[in-house]
Amino acid sequence: MRRTYLDYNATSPTKPEVIDAVSDCLKSWSNPSSVHQAGRDSKACLEAARRQVAALAGCHSKQIVFTSGGTEADNMVIQDASFDSYLALATEHPAVRVPIQMKGSKAQSLKVDDQGIIDLAFLEAALKQATGKILLCVMYANNETGAVQPIKEVVALARQYDAWVHCDAVQALGKIPVSFSDLGVHSMALSAHKIGGPPGVGALIVAEGQEVAPWIQGGGQERSFRSGTVNVPGVVGFGIAAELAQACLADASNHAVLRDQFEEALKRITPDVRIFSEDAKRLPNTSMFALEGFDSSVLFVSLDLAGICVSTGSACSSGVAKLSPVLLAMGVPEALAKSAIRISTGWASRQEDIDAFLKVWFRITASSGQNNKQPIA
Ligand code: PLP
Repeated sequence: MRRTYLDYNATSPTKPEVIDAVSDCLKSWSNPSSVHQAGRDSKACLEAARRQVAALAGCHSKQIVFTSGGTEADNMVIQDASFDSYLALATEHPAVRVPIQMKGSKAQSLKVDDQGIIDLAFLEAALKQATGKILLCVMYANNETGAVQPIKEVVALARQYDAWVHCDAVQALGKIPVSFSDLGVHSMALSAHKIGGPPGVGALIVAEGQEVAPWIQGGGQERSFRSGTVNVPGVVGFGIAAELAQACLADASNHAVLRDQFEEALKRITPDVRIFSEDAKRLPNTSMFALEGFDSSVLFVSLDLAGICVSTGSACSSGVAKLSPVLLAMGVPEALAKSAIRISTGWASRQEDIDAFLKVWFRITASSGQNNKQPIA
């Protein structure tokens, strides 16, 4: 059975060119800190990858610190003890939300509107109230709804209060153009596996003249921000994935076409469907939606049996459904949040993947009496 993969925001299948590059590198790599020829060759590969990632993220290669992924890059900034106040969007990924929550009374959650977009008036009031050195975390694009934040406006406001702006661009990278320098943020987190690169590799970009406290102490690799022998094969894979993603960025409009056609069909079948962040600027590959009174777990099981991979908006642990904090922060009623489904497309997605999903959607919603019974075109 061919697998229909519609879960690129969870992870992207690794691109064949990346698999080849990682595998070649594994056969010949050496410690890039070694001064012999093999070490120097590895160092050259590491630096070439740094330039490739920098080109995609719109920064200088020397601003990049390689990490084990997006989570580590986010944590590196938040762990810095020199901040006195922490502000973070209510819809941040757990990689930001959880360490920020651990700051207790020093942390404040920032309101979003019903489209999941930051409330700038609320942000300004929070900045006014915050004391000392402020860390402000605002993600570029949301992993669940795809909502894209107005980062430049956030930065303009933050500057008036001398706040450090950290931007989690894990989901935006490779899906929409990202330029670290143009946005003017202080730091940015990236991840390789969301763009067809290997898992366990990411990067933190830190603006010139700024520093975060060293995260892992040891041999002083990665300009002493993150000690430990760098995962050169993984980083080489990140570099190739970045180069390929750059070439594919023009294709993002194709994803938007696929997504728009998908959403039209969804509304034709189930006119009562609600698409989250539909009126906001959104990633071209992401669609999260729900149908009130509909049990998404029934759909999920049917999709899984048909080899179709998607995500649901609620996670179930110990028999208790945990609703998406993102949707709840957007004011989505619990009954609706319970039935949320996310599909996200990527480099290998085809029309037939979308059609496969819609067929199951049609069948399941028909059996629960929730579709208008128009056959799929
Ligand atoms: N930030 C966002 C917005 C994400 O979507 C993810 C992964 O889902 C992460 C951070 C974590 O990245 P990684 O899996 O590389 O640790």
